[in-house]
Amino acid sequence: MKLRIYPDPILSKSCAEVRIGDSKIPAILDEMAQKLYKWEGAGLAAPQVGIMGRVVVIDIRDEPKKLYKLVNPKITWKSDEIVESNEGCLSLPILRKTIKRYESVVMEYFDENFEKKEIYATGFLSCCLQHELDHLDGILYIDHLSRLKKARALSEFKKIQEAKG
Ligand SMILES: [Zn+2]
Repeated sequence: MKLRIYPDPILSKSCAEVRIGDSKIPAILDEMAQKLYKWEGAGLAAPQVGIMGRVVVIDIRDEPKKLYKLVNPKITWKSDEIVESNEGCLSLPILRKTIKRYESVVMEYFDENFEKKEIYATGFLSCCLQHELDHLDGILYIDHLSRLKKARALSEFKKIQEAKG
């Protein structure tokens, strides 16, 4: 698994649901979790490692520690309340921007044992879920910026990449 960096075209593609019970999924989730810790992210979606399936891992480094392994996650409810969320993305290294997110969401998903689960998330976890689920639809957090702000963010990112060589 290699990290896909913007503007890799895979990052703007929509992923299909995976088959519930697919025996390859638990190993994919385990490897994605290892990468998440190695790359020190809060979340990692399958297309970021070149896999076009609706699979995500999240660990917001909260106490108590909780690693979410999400299969075919779906947001089923969004709060009216909107919050400002300062975000970064492993696929857009170093860049950070503030966008708007729903303050809380309800999400349905299957866990690594293909058991159906539902969680109510608020604050940072809610924003993180929205960020990662967007990846499954080919949406990056900078896509939530106005056209002008997105263009500025991309030229800033280009400079960051050039400076890295
Ligand atoms: Zn991301």
